Amino acid sequence: MKKIKKIAFIGIGLINSSLARDLREKNFYQKSSAYSRTKKTRNILKKLKIVDKVEDSYANTVRDADLIVIGVPVEAFSSVIKKISNHLKQGAIVTDVGSVKKSLVKISQKSLSKEVDFIPGHPIAGTENSGPESGFKGLFKDGHCILTPSALARKESVEVVIKMWNLVGMKVDIMDPEYHDLVLAITSHIPHIIAYSIVGTVSNLEKSIKTEVIKYAASGFKDFTRIAASDPVMWRDIMLSNKHSILKMLKIFKNDLAKLEVAIKKEDSKFLFNLFSKTRKIRKSITK
Ligand code: NAP
Repeated sequence: MKKIKKIAFIGIGLINSSLARDLREKNFYQKSSAYSRTKKTRNILKKLKIVDKVEDSYANTVRDADLIVIGVPVEAFSSVIKKISNHLKQGAIVTDVGSVKKSLVKISQKSLSKEVDFIPGHPIAGTENSGPESGFKGLFKDGHCILTPSALARKESVEVVIKMWNLVGMKVDIMDPEYHDLVLAITSHIPHIIAYSIVGTVSNLEKSIKTEVIKYAASGFKDFTRIAASDPVMWRDIMLSNKHSILKMLKIFKNDLAKLEVAIKKEDSKFLFNLFSKTRKIRKSITK
């Protein structure tokens, strides 16, 4: 397998800093660099010592790098690709950790040379926190990572990216980018829409009924809405980049919700009991 002399991280928040923490101990590369656009993040990175070199220039970060891992909000991907594309060495492998895949594949096809392989990736792991200080070792352990490489990508490049995720404890699945976006729309993006929207509803109610509803929210509400504390830039970008799949899945979800509403109106206890029994069984079968 191709040897990785230098790995470069572009955007090093929760996901890329967790990856850097894990990889540092795995003898996967000889040296590492990371780009951050802000002085504040660069200073944090210098203190954390999770990469060898902290850079404020795209060119210096990716120069001579064999593997580049992009970890920025998905709407920033296009500008990042444009800024690094002229500085990539021949045969470099570019991968990413973005939550949406189809739009990123399109951008990379337009902006990257044929001498560079783009192997899109999405580790299914995370928390509601952001920034390099919120990353931690073991975030990816026992999780799944989805890769959506094109049929034209060199097999050797795909193997490097699979090896990287295997080293930090992830199983890797290969998927079509469009299918990835559809699956993630219902399993991740719509749950975030519901959490954001219900917190908004409760807060509006608070104003209209002039009582501190949020203060008295039971633990169910707190557990259920944890993800509404997630980064607004990241989630705004995901909603816009995966618009079509999200709208498709939202239609199906709204239809199911309407059926539930009718059952409550009609006091259809059998429907409610059967649905809740079925979903309880499904939920209990989900481990990690
Ligand atoms: P994060 O903690 O907010 O870190 C994002 C990083 O991107 C920061 O280092 C930030 O740099 C940089 N950045 C933001 N906008 C930029 C721009 N316009 N140009 C250059 N750099 C920019 O985010 P994250 O949670 O690691 O997420 C990174 C990616 O992983 C996203 O695409 C997200 O969809 C995906 N993802 C997230 C999760 C999750 O649970 N969080 C899970 C799987 C995948 P500065 O600090 O210098 O501003």
